[in-house]
Amino acid sequence: AAWRVLRNEICDTIGENNYKTWIEPLNFARQSNDVAVFHAPTAFVGNYVRQHYGDMILAKLHAHVAGIRRLDFEVAANIAAQPSQAPVQQPAAAPAPKPAAQNDGLISAPLDPRFTFDNFVVGKPNELAHAAARRVAEGSVVTFNPLFLYGGVGLGKTHLMHAISWELRRNRPDLNVLYLSAEQFMYRFVQALRDRRMMDFKELFRSVDVLMVDDVQFIAGKDSTQDEFFHTFNALIEQQKQIVISADRAPDEIKDLENRIRSRLQSGLVVDLHPTDYELRLGILQSKVEAQRVLYPTLELDDGIVEFLAHRISTNVRVLEGALTRLFAFASLVGKPITMELTQDCLADVLRASQQKISIEEIQRRVAEHYNIRISDLIGPKRLRAFARPRQVAMFLCKQLTSRSLPEIGRRFGGRDHTTVMHGVKRIEELRMQDAQIDEDVELLRRALES
Ligand code: ADP
Ligand code: MG
Repeated sequence: AAWRVLRNEICDTIGENNYKTWIEPLNFARQSNDVAVFHAPTAFVGNYVRQHYGDMILAKLHAHVAGIRRLDFEVAANIAAQPSQAPVQQPAAAPAPKPAAQNDGLISAPLDPRFTFDNFVVGKPNELAHAAARRVAEGSVVTFNPLFLYGGVGLGKTHLMHAISWELRRNRPDLNVLYLSAEQFMYRFVQALRDRRMMDFKELFRSVDVLMVDDVQFIAGKDSTQDEFFHTFNALIEQQKQIVISADRAPDEIKDLENRIRSRLQSGLVVDLHPTDYELRLGILQSKVEAQRVLYPTLELDDGIVEFLAHRISTNVRVLEGALTRLFAFASLVGKPITMELTQDCLADVLRASQQKISIEEIQRRVAEHYNIRISDLIGPKRLRAFARPRQVAMFLCKQLTSRSLPEIGRRFGGRDHTTVMHGVKRIEELRMQDAQIDEDVELLRRALES
């Protein structure tokens, strides 16, 4: 009964189209302890709702039912999925996504309507990946094959792949574009084996014009799936069909991957998405604030708070988005304006988590260790190359991985000026393009610090 009341409230909050697409197909199943369990028609719908509306639903549930702390979505396999009749919330010019069918055929995993190029904010850390994705999305010539995108969680790999799909559907509706996760690839492969329909499977995958496989690290160590992937991959490359792959790390860092596959993956263009920097986070936040303002027209968020969030929240864009969603939902529920105090209250856990993050000391320690020099030399006045380069690397990492300002970083490096820090950061940025060794050092250090 509470759910019925809530549904109306949710509809008011997110608008009828979103409501019909995402919330209406849900059924409240039960409450077990502090978990509210819903039946969702597909895992995608469940995940989408969790990701986009989870905090809001939870907050609203709180007001009606005591003690709910979590939402869970079960896929109701035997409740027939009812594709919603409502128009799906659409990106400006892209066609509506096809509902995912359960039967055979060339079925792409559902595409998130918000993951378009229009909604992708470009900055230094992702400009190369973005440009490469744009090129593939033109669908005219195959310039690099495969395109291999990699980067940490929440940096926009899936977003870019969906954007390519949307754009190709528009530019080249004649092409068969197949997007799926490596996990789904494996699932379909296993199913084909079980149903003795390998011929169909092979034929299906070899008939695509553009194949995009997300999170390919997933198939590492899964031998027969890897094999099949390799064959599919080769058949498509031979026919000059475009392939786009993503992973959470570079091909040569994926363990348990056969060498022949590794080298295949490296044979095209390999681009990484770097962790977001302050400017990019600011840009992303500003664009997401716009979206929230549509949902909550009465709420304002002033620039000071946006800057505060860009400084204080980690590089994962998903975390950033989640924080913003929660902030707006919270303010609207308690009926208060968004002040700094309310922000700190509402996001205490997120802010705390990112504060425990990497410190300047830790970066200095690791870098000194890595280059086998003393910390006193790293931050001291000596200008020898053997110290100066590691110093610049350390400054670069401080800029990337902490929210400290340039002047502060300068102070912590023996009282240097902020322009010195800026110069150091720039230098490393340039060197990373030219010098594979530096690039590798930086990557190794970054990963070690982030783990
Ligand atoms: P990944 O697949 O790399 O883990 P996603 O593509 O799922 O990351 O991105 C996580 C979330 O952050 C998504 O909601 C996505 O829209 C958003 N996001 C990431 N990068 C950007 C960007 N540059 N501009 C706008 N939104 C972004
Ligand atoms: Mg992803």
